[in-house]
Parts: sequence; structure tokens; C-alpha cells
Amino acid sequence: MYTLGIDIGSTTSKAVILNENKEIVAQSIVVATVGTNGVSKAIENVMTESGLTMDDMACSTATGYGRQTYDGATYQVSELSCHAIGVHHVFPDARTVIDIGGQDAKVLSINDSGKMSNFIMNDKCAAGTGRFLDVMANILQLDISELEVEAAKAEDAVSISSTCTVFAESEVISQLANGIPIPELVKGICESVAIRVASQARRGGIREEVVMSGGVARNAGVRNAMEKELGVTIRYSELSQLMGALGAALYGLNKINA
Ligand code: ADP
Repeated sequence: MYTLGIDIGSTTSKAVILNENKEIVAQSIVVATVGTNGVSKAIENVMTESGLTMDDMACSTATGYGRQTYDGATYQVSELSCHAIGVHHVFPDARTVIDIGGQDAKVLSINDSGKMSNFIMNDKCAAGTGRFLDVMANILQLDISELEVEAAKAEDAVSISSTCTVFAESEVISQLANGIPIPELVKGICESVAIRVASQARRGGIREEVVMSGGVARNAGVRNAMEKELGVTIRYSELSQLMGALGAALYGLNKINA
């Protein structure tokens, strides 16, 4: 028996197929989302990888910002619930989840059964989200996956004083013109995101274990800066960007087994 989880985010489409033992049999992340063929591509990828078809799925669950745009799912569930379920499955002792996606950042408090008790969200401003990092990587002509590599080369970080992404963009361009080395700038850019989200997290209250999820968690430069800012160990899994889709597939499995 298999279930499909689909996470239609602001920036990427993710899909996960689980078997009845809660094992991932296929996963896909496509950098395209609402209004494109991103969702169908992610689903096609997991079906090809597993050799299964939609008919083999006991149910499908859609989550994420664009979940209402996809009418092929059995269930539609909020991404807050799905991230909580996904993170709890991988880290049963997690009590705080910091999910930084392409256009928002959410801090969730979860209990010992993985239920969300509180959350704080920033979806009004690109600073403190993946969008900020995407814009900066573009200026520096780096792939998003190279930011952590550059940040790791730097001893010191150049602090980015502008809190607005548009102004920070000009600030980074003028730092480049002043000959500031790219690693120091990148370390400062990662710290800037961590500082903003950490202050959001403190408002929600930090309880350990603290787990980072979402695409930005893949960036070790941001994870390290977050540890420094919050003074706690940040737990991380390579599934971080798939936590919502994993939670959605688990939600469906729980429904079937209920
Ligand atoms: P959403 O669910 O809102 O679509 P995601 O959780 O998929 O967003 O996160 C997207 C963000 O993750 C991107 O904006 C980008 O900054 C970051 N990201 C994606 N891939 C990587 C990577 N390989 N390394 C570092 N950061 C990444």
C-alpha cells in the first residue's frame, strides 16, 4: 500500500511516495510551482522512480501554498500541519520547527505527539526567506547550493545593514565594488537571514530540540548562523525540503490506517 504526498510551495513542487512501513520509495523536488507543470512533473518523477502509477496510491494529500490549485488530491492539509507531522516523524523529540521556504518563514511549536501548538509566520517581507538568498546568489552569479561553500571559506562576515531585500541588493553590489571578498559577503548574507528568523523564533519561544526544515535549511551557512544566533544545536535532515510532502504522505497513511 502506498500514499502520495504533494507539497506545492511558493517556489518549488515536491512529491513523496511512502509505503505502508512509512519508508520513502520515491521523492522529487522540481523548481517550478503554481501555474506551471511543476506539480505534474514532480508526480511524474516519483511514479517513474518507483515504477508505480496513480492507481497504486491508496490516497494522495496536497499541502503547501498552492494546494488549492490542485484538485486531484484526496485530502488538502495546511503546510503547518504537514511540516509538524514530517519533522516529528524524523525527529520525535523536536519541539520547535524553523521552516524557511522560498517566500516565507514559519516557526512552529510542536508537542510530543507532533501536533502544532503555536506558530509565527513572516510572509510579508522577502528578507528572512529563500527569496533573499536567491536574489543575492543571482547577483554573485552563484548557484544557490554554492552559498554554503562560499560561507565556509570566510573567517569573518560582512554585516548587511539593510533589512529590505531591494536595499540589501544595492548594498551587496557596492560591497563587491569596494573589493569585499565573496565568501565574507556570503557569510554576511546567510547571517542576515538567520538574524531575522531567529528574532521571529524568539517571539514564539524556543524549546529544544530545534529542527530546521524547508529548502533554506539545506544551506549550512544559514544553519550555522542560526545556531550562533539562538545558542542551541540545530537538528537537520537531508529531507528538510521534503518535510511538507513527507508529512502529507504520512497524513494520508494515518487516515487509511485510522
Ligand atoms: P517553498 O516550499 O516555499 O516552495 P522551499 O522549502 O522549497 O520553498 O525552499 C525554496 C528555497 O530553498 C529557495 O528559495 C532556495 O533559497 C533554497 N534552496 C533550494 N535548494 C537549495 C540548495 N541546494 N541549497 C541551499 N538552498 C537551497
